[in-house]
Parts: sequence; C-alpha cells; structure tokens
Amino acid sequence: MLLPDLYLSSIFSITPELLKGLGVEALVLDVDNTLRAYKSDRPYKGVSEWVEKMRKSGISLIVASNNLKSSVGPFASTLKLDYVSMSFKPLPFGLKRALRKLKIDRSKVAIVGDQVFTDIIGGRLSGFRTILVKPFVAERGIFWRIRRFFEKPVIIRYNNKKSRRK
Ligand SMILES: [Mg+2]
Repeated sequence: MLLPDLYLSSIFSITPELLKGLGVEALVLDVDNTLRAYKSDRPYKGVSEWVEKMRKSGISLIVASNNLKSSVGPFASTLKLDYVSMSFKPLPFGLKRALRKLKIDRSKVAIVGDQVFTDIIGGRLSGFRTILVKPFVAERGIFWRIRRFFEKPVIIRYNNKKSRRK
C-alpha cells in the first residue's frame, strides 16, 4: 500500500516513453514540491516546458492538490491545466473528481507526488499507478520533520526491492 511503483528524483525523469512502457496515458499531478517549490507560487524552473512536452505527446494532465483554491487555481491556469483543489488526499473523493475530469480509465492513470501519506496512498486507494518524486526543497517545521521521518522506511524498502530485482 505504501510502496510507490516508481521513485524518481523529480518530474523531469518522467518521459512519454516511460509512461508508454507503464501503459499510462494520464497523470494526476500534485502541486507543492512536485510542480513548484515549497512556499513558492510559481512553477519550478523547467516545469512549464515539461508540461508542454507531455501535452504534445498526448499525455492528459490534471492537477490535484490539498491546497486551497486561491493557491491552486491561479497556479494551474499559468500551466493551462485543469485542477482539483482541497482534494483531501489520501481520501479518494478528490481524486475521483480528477478522474472524472480526465474521462479515462483509472488503470491508465498515474498519480505523481512528493508525499507517501497523501499522494501515494491516495493514488493506491484510487486504483492509479503511483510515482513518488523527491521534493524540490526541504520544508521547515516539526510537522514536516515528522512526516518525512515516517516516509524514510518506505523509501528504504523501495530501494531494497529495486536492488533485489536487479
Ligand atoms: Mg506535495
């Protein structure tokens, strides 16, 4: 349940060829520390170009964030993407809304995000493939320290599993 299908250093490692190999035709994208740095309101450097490349390759994209509409809406529109805000990940109903907007079967969808306990679990509960990415920047504060602490064993297990497969 906790292990992502893929763990990548950033969205920039996601290519149309990789997705094709997984049978993925649409991505549900987290925002904070996935498409923009923590506490930034703009796309991280290179994100707009990456979105454009995906779009040109026929990959459908939608944003799903637990952040507020006032933050997610303007951000999504700079990237010309549809969005779901206040998605309450890992609960499935926000992601269900995203799936309805994509109009595609869940088996062809992957969620991409930087957090195991919201993005990856939410994706699993929704029947999506799951791609965990490293956060662009380190967050501050005790709540974040705790969250990241509990993610560590998951990442270690992912790496162990991967090295066993080799
Ligand atoms: Mg995030």
